[in-house]
Amino acid sequence: GDLTIPVPMNTDYVDWSLHYPSFFGVPNNNDDKMFCNKEQKSEKVPTIVDIGCGYGGLLFELSKEFPNELILGMEIRDKVTNFVVQKINSSRINSGYKDYLNIGVVRTNTMKTIHNYFKKESLEKMFILFADPHFKKQNHRRRIITTQLLSDYAYSLKTGGKIYTATDVKELHDWEVEHMELHPLFERVPEEETKDDPCIKFMTEGTDEAKKVARNGGSVWHSVYRKKDLEKSR
Ligand code: SAM
Repeated sequence: GDLTIPVPMNTDYVDWSLHYPSFFGVPNNNDDKMFCNKEQKSEKVPTIVDIGCGYGGLLFELSKEFPNELILGMEIRDKVTNFVVQKINSSRINSGYKDYLNIGVVRTNTMKTIHNYFKKESLEKMFILFADPHFKKQNHRRRIITTQLLSDYAYSLKTGGKIYTATDVKELHDWEVEHMELHPLFERVPEEETKDDPCIKFMTEGTDEAKKVARNGGSVWHSVYRKKDLEKSR
């Protein structure tokens, strides 16, 4: 089970330079002295997160769209996480360490450890895409969007930060929307405001699961919610 996965004690124990070396003045490999410049050391942290990233397709789409943001996938299955690590490494090598420097992945159970990784109000975007449906009623509490977990997500998100969801399971979509609608810290972003957002296309067509659904001719439902500005709405 996930009890054997090591978890950082708190956010100060996460060394992001291991995941994004070129953003921290650390060489990508021993031959490459180009990046070995202490001046480049930064306090950068991830601002975009893909919860349950699976095989990581979305990370690669986001990498080029947001070259200056650190993007993190989180995944609980070890083999799948290792696959993503390998894919990121080989993509970096194939690009001569020019591309995919801003994406990384950790193996963790996000339901329990999100606050061990992200400081309060540090995230711009969270993606929760094609989540496991947990169809049976007694398993609904295991869903990745619940009132409690939305409060956890709200703590990590900046004001105005967004949660993006997509799924081919209508029942799950309805559950996710219902919980976000009822949550006092979130409001839906209207369709007309999201029509120019490239993330919509990435999440409904670009993830591995989205591609599978498209091949089988299925439908995808999506939503975008943002963390309310409580000062404004007072
Ligand atoms: N988002 C990906 C996509 O669209 O292709 C993968 C979707 S897959 C159906 C759901 C993923 O969430 C699985 O890879 C699963 O292992 C992962 N997952 C489920 N519960 C999780 C948890 N508590 N923490 C991290 N990952 C989780």
